[in-house]
Amino acid sequence: MAKVAAVILADNARGVEREARSALSKGVDLTELRLDFVRNLDPVTIRNLAAAVGSKSIATLRSEGEGGAHGPRGDRRASLLNEIMAQRFAYVDIEQEADGERIEDLKRLGKRHRPTLIVSHHFAGVADSSQVQDALEACAAIGDVAKVVAPVEDLDSAMQLVDLARAQTERKRRIVLIGAGVDGMITRALAEDVGQEIQYAAWGRPASSGQLSLAAATRLRGREPMVLGVVGHPLGHSLSPAIHEAALSALDVPGVYLPFDCDEDSLEALLEAADRHHVRGFNVTSPHKETIVEKLDELDGDAERLGAVNTVVVGDGWTKGHNTDVFGFRLSLRSLGLRVGDRRVLVVGAGGAAKAVVSVLVREGAKVQVTNRTIRRAEVLAESFDETVDAIPLDALARGGPWELLVNATPLGSAGLSNGLPVPAATLSKVGYVYDLVYNPPSTPLMDAARRLGKPTTSGLEMLLHQAAQSFELWTGRAPPVEPMRRAAKEALR
Ligand code: NAP
Repeated sequence: MAKVAAVILADNARGVEREARSALSKGVDLTELRLDFVRNLDPVTIRNLAAAVGSKSIATLRSEGEGGAHGPRGDRRASLLNEIMAQRFAYVDIEQEADGERIEDLKRLGKRHRPTLIVSHHFAGVADSSQVQDALEACAAIGDVAKVVAPVEDLDSAMQLVDLARAQTERKRRIVLIGAGVDGMITRALAEDVGQEIQYAAWGRPASSGQLSLAAATRLRGREPMVLGVVGHPLGHSLSPAIHEAALSALDVPGVYLPFDCDEDSLEALLEAADRHHVRGFNVTSPHKETIVEKLDELDGDAERLGAVNTVVVGDGWTKGHNTDVFGFRLSLRSLGLRVGDRRVLVVGAGGAAKAVVSVLVREGAKVQVTNRTIRRAEVLAESFDETVDAIPLDALARGGPWELLVNATPLGSAGLSNGLPVPAATLSKVGYVYDLVYNPPSTPLMDAARRLGKPTTSGLEMLLHQAAQSFELWTGRAPPVEPMRRAAKEALR
């Protein structure tokens, strides 16, 4: 079983001891004391920490060259490392490059307490599999546990590292192999499954990008992992990881939800490797929502009708695409108490979200008009429905309406985009209620403008939550804990 190590980054001895004791009392197997973070580290501090928490700790004095903090350098670092070796720590992390030449001296110093020696190598830049393999061999040759950390630039290279790690542990090697960065998170998610020695987890702020939270690491410990996530490119800032993390945590499901930033080729590779890497499902976002359709074995009715998938469930040897945006929008209408039957509704936008919205509206009996920057797309969308849906150019809105409901299904108003309105401002005076599918920020310029006219508004948060809840249920078969999911989304939006 991979031991969960909470990484302690306090910058003073008292803080290190306090936080290490606190982490251990929460049930972690180990703490990693990042002694390079401790200001003015001296032998007395090392002895005191060893006496207090050493038997359950990894002592690490990372060198500056391999990403250490403000710790000692050169001879000073070497003599403090000697002191560490002479004290009682469960593990000591030494570096193959900086300390390898002194390995026999260090082992001699460690004779009394016999710490398990982690010999590590941290690549500064992206390394290919053969370089990683060589580094693992070099570390394994002189240490008990070989630890290699290599930044990865994409999901493919991260998955290659997982395979490499598996091959090593099948040879009974004790290793830690981490793909650093967000793209490498799958190497951490599968640490237990692959048989790695240690799962380093964030105690508070992460020591490095992509490190799992302590909650996620302890949830995965000793259990078969369920890897979930979102595929898209670019992914930007998504609320989905926070929402699903809250759900996994509330129900203690041994899962993680990872951002899979991938192009078409990486998506193929992910689908191909899904079974092997315990990927049980994922959300799909731009630009793959439509192109993924032909790569899947089955589609549910909504995904088939709309030709777009936002959720994939991976079974044993099969994949099924769903469109939970439809469910999310329908349920949000209910939870918001919005009745649309026989009402006139204007939908702005002609992309995947607009299509999901229109499909719900027509099924509920609404009279729907669609407008879009590119009117031809709105026409194609309107024609794709058996029910009557009209396309109306933006510049004809002044003569149209009124509408009981306006739904914005364009990204205009999203954080980081321009502040423009998706329809001419005058249109709003002819609208009863504004529903903006944008959920970040919680109030958009469109909603602000509508409220100034005294109109009620809502953001896309309810829809987001309900589509996420349905995805969660499809993946886990468990009733989704909607309230914790809502709280997490609101917290992430603050
Ligand atoms: P999409 O398929 O890329 O479609 C985008 C639509 O917005 C297109 O009609 C596009 O017009 C229009 N558009 C894009 N940029 C524009 C601009 N600068 N000015 C005017 N129109 C513009 O995207 P989607 O998947 O439908 O998503 C649309 C929005 O809905 C996104 O903000 C997304 O976050 C949100 N959404 C929310 C939820 C939720 O749960 N709340 C669910 C799904 C989507 P053209 O056709 O002219 O390019």
